[in-house]
Amino acid sequence: MPALLVRHLLWAAALCAAAPVHAESFITRLLNKPVPGGVAVVPLGDGPTAPVATYLDRRTMVLRDDGGQWIAVVGIPLGTRPGTQRLAVQEEAGTRTLDFQVGTKTYVAQHIKLKNKRQVNPDPADLARIEKETAEQLAAYRAFRPQGPSNVMLDRPVAGGRLSSPFGLQRFFNGEPRNPHSGLDFAVPAGTPVKAPAAGRVVLVGDYFFNGKTVFVDHGQGFISMFCHLSGIGVRVGQDVARGEEVGRVGSTGRATGPHLHWNVSLNDARVDPAIFIGAFKP
Ligand SMILES: [Zn+2]
Repeated sequence: MPALLVRHLLWAAALCAAAPVHAESFITRLLNKPVPGGVAVVPLGDGPTAPVATYLDRRTMVLRDDGGQWIAVVGIPLGTRPGTQRLAVQEEAGTRTLDFQVGTKTYVAQHIKLKNKRQVNPDPADLARIEKETAEQLAAYRAFRPQGPSNVMLDRPVAGGRLSSPFGLQRFFNGEPRNPHSGLDFAVPAGTPVKAPAAGRVVLVGDYFFNGKTVFVDHGQGFISMFCHLSGIGVRVGQDVARGEEVGRVGSTGRATGPHLHWNVSLNDARVDPAIFIGAFKP
């Protein structure tokens, strides 16, 4: 083979190797589960400053991935219909929209028997209390602190324990349909320490009708954990917690049939499947 041609081929091979391969980033590979109750990771380009992305009028998390690309990590509400969804992206150059696709996922049904009838059909005084408590918790989910999370793949908040009720279960209490299960349950004994799965700030603690003793930890950029049915709370509002720091103990306060940890994960005010963030998602 003539030397010039060989050199040419080598040069071409080198160019190929250097060309951007656009392999999926670490975060995309692990978190991109674009289904109702899942997460869409949407690439936003590689400009010098972080774009601001909003979905359903809520600001979404925006991170730089390991390839230097900006990505929006978008929570998809459980009630979303499969099909095209739209993200609004604000950059220095102006505003644009980006479409992404949401696929389907089937969630199974669960029937629960509760002896306490008031927890199935609360009386009027309970309803007033529930309304106030719901508003307080929704406000916590809607907060957006600009600082990003310490980690997006989360630690399990409790050691051991099987995953009991999965996220998204369509629930029937004493035969009556109620809201689907908004979090993930861990079957662990009362008193088990509950640890922050990422660093964050305690933004709400309460003792609620349904959720019992509850702690909200804001991990940053609308990425929020809620732990409920606790027997005890070891933190106060405004406190910064390190990854792995204890926030409370497992219990069965509120509407719970026995001791377990119920953990919600929220992104842009959408409750999403916590299993995604601990590598336990089942499509
Ligand atoms: Zn639960």
